[in-house]
Amino acid sequence: MAGGIEVKTPEQVLVMRRAGLVVARTLAALRDAAAPGVTTAELDALARDELARAGATSSFLHYGGGWDVQPFPAVTCISVNDEIVHGIPGPRVLAEGDLVSVDFGAIVDGWHGDSALSFSVGAARPDDQRLSDVTRASMWRGIAAARLGGRVGDISAAIQGYVRSQRERYGIVREFTGHGIGSQMHQAPDVPNHGKRGRGPLLTPGICLAIEPMLTLGGEGTATLDDGWTVVTRDGSRACHWEHTMTVTKHGLWVLTAEDGGEAELTALGATFGPLAD
Ligand code: MG
Ligand code: MG
Repeated sequence: MAGGIEVKTPEQVLVMRRAGLVVARTLAALRDAAAPGVTTAELDALARDELARAGATSSFLHYGGGWDVQPFPAVTCISVNDEIVHGIPGPRVLAEGDLVSVDFGAIVDGWHGDSALSFSVGAARPDDQRLSDVTRASMWRGIAAARLGGRVGDISAAIQGYVRSQRERYGIVREFTGHGIGSQMHQAPDVPNHGKRGRGPLLTPGICLAIEPMLTLGGEGTATLDDGWTVVTRDGSRACHWEHTMTVTKHGLWVLTAEDGGEAELTALGATFGPLAD
């Protein structure tokens, strides 16, 4: 631990990479399976099968809970249209044009991977496509802004700066943030999606972070449904969410939940792709 942040050894990061690949492959399978007429519970069942096949367990199942909130009852969070994050899979039938975010976490030998992607079912509405493209690109800008000796605020500022550079105005959700990740899914530090360069905790080798911008086509206000989990936009606008788990190695950046480790996106952005031997 350094300043409350769990610093991983290279060996531990390599185990997180195994968890990250389970997450990447499962999310790809869920995106392929999503179609009009499929229920969100069916997608969750597919994710459970993938976890079992990989010999991994879920980061989400039975997470949290308290005197007034049930522990999370599924292995995925599936959030549709005006739902931002933490949607509970169930009988909802996906329809053409739905904007779907799937968030998924896996544990391998005690180490977590956490990632989310968004897509439209069938043909995308043009506004939704732009929203998803900007959210995804802001995530990659945030990841690419990380470097040894830099600060968490460099990531936050890059996400916010990219979103604000767009001609269209998007809401940046502030009540939920990225986070440290490792032997637990949620650890210090928080990684906000807005902030200032040069601020916040230092980026050191072995720090592992989940970067997860959440944008809306409207305002930034959120509300939580009576199920205790599902977070929606207060104004009913549609929302989008992308997430990757990444680390900073002494060689550069490594995206543990991307099939290619982030090489293509990071190289295109001029950042240094620097995996450990895997
Ligand atoms: Mg997640
Ligand atoms: Mg997360």
